[in-house]
Amino acid sequence: MSMEKLIELQGIDTKLRDLNDLLGDLPFKVNELNQQEEFIKNSLIEKKERLKELAVECHKGEVRIAEINDKVNKLKDQLFLVTNNKQYDALMHEMDHMKEERSTIETETLSFLEESETLTESVETMESDLGSLSNEITVRREKLESVISDSAEEKSSLEQKRSNKVESLDLNTLSIYNRVFQARDGLAVVNLSGNGCGGCGAHVPLQKVTEVRANSAIHRCDVCGRFLYSENNSLN
Ligand SMILES: [Zn+2]
Repeated sequence: MSMEKLIELQGIDTKLRDLNDLLGDLPFKVNELNQQEEFIKNSLIEKKERLKELAVECHKGEVRIAEINDKVNKLKDQLFLVTNNKQYDALMHEMDHMKEERSTIETETLSFLEESETLTESVETMESDLGSLSNEITVRREKLESVISDSAEEKSSLEQKRSNKVESLDLNTLSIYNRVFQARDGLAVVNLSGNGCGGCGAHVPLQKVTEVRANSAIHRCDVCGRFLYSENNSLN
């Protein structure tokens, strides 16, 4: 009898839905956390690269400043050896030029150092964030895996039962079931509730109630389209 198969199919589908509800938004949450983790990791790599560049630049600056100091000292020594104003002016001019370059490099190095400091702080914060995020991800992933493995066996057995049930139904009835199932939030087969539809509550005409109770044919609610059965007689 098709009606009994439909009742069983609905029972299987309800169990499958409950299993999926059990998983909830865990897979989505884990995915979201993974993306967050990936983003922080990439950002950390970029920041550490920049820190290396800054260290190189600072070192270059220091080396150049030492060179300049050396040169300036030599120029100062040469000042004692000049014999005319023209030479003196030329040396002074070169010294001024050197000092100007030194001042530019010092300013630059200072800004590199400031950037370095800010970056180092940010890297420390991000590494600690990453630590707690990784812990959270691990906890959620483990929870998800345990829920999935617990339900996997049940799910595959239900899916096997479902496909057997589906094969035993005629295509027309099955296609109506699928349509109502989709449209009515996963509930396509309902028990009579008194003289009303157990799904939408609509009144069911007495003639139909009698036939549903007698389990003599397949009936559907005129309002919501759900298949109707009567629990009292379904075991007949
Ligand atoms: Zn209804």
